[in-house]
Amino acid sequence: MTIPATTSQHTTLDWYGCATFALATAGLTIFLDAYIDRPSTAAGPNPPRTADDVDEADWILIGHSHFDHLYGAERIMANTEATLVGGYESIRVMEEAGVPADRMICISGGETIDLELADGRGAGVRVTSYPSQHSCVWSQMPDPDGSGEIGSGEMEPADAVCLGDLGATWQEQQVRMASVMKYLETELDGPATEHLAASMVGHSPRGDGGPLVFVIETPDGRIFYQDTSGHWSGIIENLDADVAILAAAGRANIDGEPIQGSLAEFVGRQAATLGASQIVLGHHDNWLPGFSIPTDVEPIRTAIATHAPNATLLDLDYLDATPIFAGTLGTPTSEPHATNEPGDPS
Ligand SMILES: [Zn+2]
Repeated sequence: MTIPATTSQHTTLDWYGCATFALATAGLTIFLDAYIDRPSTAAGPNPPRTADDVDEADWILIGHSHFDHLYGAERIMANTEATLVGGYESIRVMEEAGVPADRMICISGGETIDLELADGRGAGVRVTSYPSQHSCVWSQMPDPDGSGEIGSGEMEPADAVCLGDLGATWQEQQVRMASVMKYLETELDGPATEHLAASMVGHSPRGDGGPLVFVIETPDGRIFYQDTSGHWSGIIENLDADVAILAAAGRANIDGEPIQGSLAEFVGRQAATLGASQIVLGHHDNWLPGFSIPTDVEPIRTAIATHAPNATLLDLDYLDATPIFAGTLGTPTSEPHATNEPGDPS
């Protein structure tokens, strides 16, 4: 992909932590996911933010229905005149939370939505959704032998090569997922446990709701957005983007099976497939201590340099309004950022 040498629109990206971003383009503020509140022990913007703080949003695009993507959208909707776009389960959860149905657009992948507003803002901005896959959360096994002795349920590091677990049925995955849920209920610290109790009320009792990815066309270029580490290979092979926002957490999912390899490899290969010039990571900070980890970005940087040598990995700090497309101050993949702790507030 080529990207414009100069940009008149000054598209910027604010990272709220986890996989939540606010994209400012062509006069619009577009939230990508809406999860902003965190346990007090989690990484995140300093000072911490809550969804109640957000008073500027025109659109909210939700990747899937889990609380760490959707929780808080109901408050952003209450504080703004935004329209929410999401899958059927996300819309159901939001409707139960009191969001008016006529302010939401229900999608399942394949729809293109024109984001221009009646006042003319957002001219030339449109988004297309595509079906996607969720990371294999079930493959984490805090209780591998079923003895009730709970071990670590933390995510694996980005360079851990994970093999096996192929061909698990839905029922087998459910048994393993129950072990993950038991770990979350019993093994996290006080603040994380309180946060889960607050944020999961009414949220995702039916699972992820069918993950979606988005391609957003702006006057400056094209952005791919993914909020969980998975994809259908036959779909992303036909997509391209100038900027790719790629989720980097957990065991990646390719076409319904856990990756035979590392998360870093998954991200690097996706960067190449999409042909993106700039890569932004999401979901890689320590948003739920005891479950998430502060992901070391360096193996991912190396994998991007190997598979997509023309791509630049942008190092976003929280809420730093990073310019994307041309003219950015992104760090080339060959020059590691001073810190590899994405969770460190700067
Ligand atoms: Zn999820």
